[in-house]
Amino acid sequence: MSIENNLKQIYQRMGKAAEGASRGLQEIKLLAVSKTMKVEAVREAYQAGQRVFAENRVQEWLEKAPALPKDCEWHLIGRLQTNKVKYLNDNITLIHSLDRLNLLKTLEEQGTRRDIIWPVLVEVNTARDPDKAGLMREELEDFLNAIADCSHVQAFGLMTIGALEATPEETQGFFRELHQIRDVLQKKKIPHVNLDELSMGMSRDFELAIAEGATIVRVGRQIFGDRQAMNKPANI
Ligand SMILES: *Cc1c(COP(=O)(O)O)cnc(C)c1O
Repeated sequence: MSIENNLKQIYQRMGKAAEGASRGLQEIKLLAVSKTMKVEAVREAYQAGQRVFAENRVQEWLEKAPALPKDCEWHLIGRLQTNKVKYLNDNITLIHSLDRLNLLKTLEEQGTRRDIIWPVLVEVNTARDPDKAGLMREELEDFLNAIADCSHVQAFGLMTIGALEATPEETQGFFRELHQIRDVLQKKKIPHVNLDELSMGMSRDFELAIAEGATIVRVGRQIFGDRQAMNKPANI
């Protein structure tokens, strides 16, 4: 199967899932997760019309993005180390994985120094797995208030991964919970904090996520095929 065909199929499946939830496909953005994939594969997706891509390592993004046309949108997913923030720039459309206070502080510092306002989603540990990234729901209000105090970090919504070993029913439950948490927090009307976006759903569960209100789905393997074993992280 070609990347072009894969993309077509994903958009069809997204369309069906949206229809099933009485939603419009145009309110859901597909991120093509190109992490570990070669530039040629990303170009193929671009040629098929895809414009929105996601990487999980700053280093890889810095190498790949300049090789693609300027009208691509780049999202950062996956854990962001504080010492990598200095390599980021305002070509990042959205950082999906703000998950802790010291990262917020670093973003605010770097943003202030470099006159960049970082667009972020707050990652929520809906599976309540202590080994996974993301804030617990009871920590969120304080955290969003901390973001509200930052002049160089702008929240746009919430993100979750769920749990890798979960059944589809459990996974759908995690997605539903993220939506509910968002609705509760939205009522608090925290100044300058926007919570419109819900980033949830990957190759194996994006339809469930759409059923539960996802506005952004993050699909890698179903577009690009299986990933090779990851290289050792480079030095930046
Ligand atoms: C890799 C990754 C994805 C995509 O996963 P696939 O199973 O390849 O669709 C989505 N979200 C995050 C945070 C990821 O790291």
